[in-house]
Amino acid sequence: MVASLSLPRILRVGRGAAEELGAVVAGLGLRRPLLVTDAFLAGTGAAERLLGILRGSGLHPALFDGTVPDPTTDSLAPGLEALREHGADSVIGFGGGSPMDTAKALALLGVQGGGMRDYKAPHVNLGPALPVIAVPTTAGSGSEATQVTVITDSATDEKMMCLGPAFLPIAAVVDMELTLSMPPRLTADTGVDALTHAVEAYVSRKSGPFTDGLALTAIATIGRHLRRAYADGSDAGAREAMMLAATQAGIAFSNSSVALVHGMSRPIGAHFHVAHGLSNAMLFPAVTAFSVHAAPERYADCARALGAATATDSAASASDKLVDALHTLCRDLDVPTPRSYGIDHAAWTGLTPLMAEQALASGSPANNPAVPTAAQIEELYARV
Ligand code: NAD
Repeated sequence: MVASLSLPRILRVGRGAAEELGAVVAGLGLRRPLLVTDAFLAGTGAAERLLGILRGSGLHPALFDGTVPDPTTDSLAPGLEALREHGADSVIGFGGGSPMDTAKALALLGVQGGGMRDYKAPHVNLGPALPVIAVPTTAGSGSEATQVTVITDSATDEKMMCLGPAFLPIAAVVDMELTLSMPPRLTADTGVDALTHAVEAYVSRKSGPFTDGLALTAIATIGRHLRRAYADGSDAGAREAMMLAATQAGIAFSNSSVALVHGMSRPIGAHFHVAHGLSNAMLFPAVTAFSVHAAPERYADCARALGAATATDSAASASDKLVDALHTLCRDLDVPTPRSYGIDHAAWTGLTPLMAEQALASGSPANNPAVPTAAQIEELYARV
């Protein structure tokens, strides 16, 4: 088997790294970046601070702060206009997964035109795009280091995964100080997203030797630090560890894949507007319980990395312990069920066949150790 590893050409990771953003962008020979962010980060002054850093390096940046959570095809239009108006030569995605994914989509559409549906997986986009520089403010999506962008089709409510090297940032500036303002719920949801990336990258049928190491390291780090970051958002050590793990998990799944949890999670986000990490968390224990029998050794490695099992546990026992540990983690992080979150049961049941169809069509379930039928996916939706 030929292993492959694609990652940003430049990675600056560590406390205070944001101060180096101007030097990174200037060092790439870029002059007119469009800083793409959301209203929250513009409102806190964080975006203005980055603009100052960019200007300090002799650059001519402009700001677009109109991104929305879980970006849609409709939400891209004003960003494209801002890109053209500025004559941007690059795009900086500043925020959680949503602004970074918006930046990636704008960078591609600004050069190639068309609509994001044209670039939906399994299509792999090999064409050019403007260079993207990613500056994450959550420790979760890993989008700063992935060749993926997730955009919802406004016409159909389908959360589309779009793939290809054009979506891989040329540089990522990963500064844990930017995550200190995350409230506990966002910390938990994004942290579970990162853990799901790492576990799914490791158990995926597309896993490989490079991604295995990154995935297991990320699992171990998240096991030791997520509860700490949730309990005390000012815990700098926990924040730093989570930030690093999220980027490692992003590289891991971008070069391996995600699997059934993500395949089933996207339709929940699209139809019920549940935050992405939270819908992963709602599914994670049940989907893992469904899957472990197909790859007990791999799940056992995840259990041991997470600290849920020891080397002397058999693979079957360790993978059962992983399921228990995920239930406990979700309880400790106050993860609701879809019903206790307030989702109408009849609406959930009514949409289950469509959600199962959309999950399968995304291709992610085919990477799962146990590849489910549509009926099994419907059963899993009924179980959570
Ligand atoms: P997000 O970007 O959707 O942001 C959620 C909320 O958190 C927003 O209101 C935002 O303003 C706020 N926020 C962001 N940083 C903050 C901070 N430091 N302090 C306080 N509030 C802050 O959240 P996310 O979970 O990072 O991203 C989710 C999106 O990323 C989803 O659309 C998901 O599909 C996508 N995603 C993409 C990839 C990829 O590889 N491209 C991977 C996983 C998820």
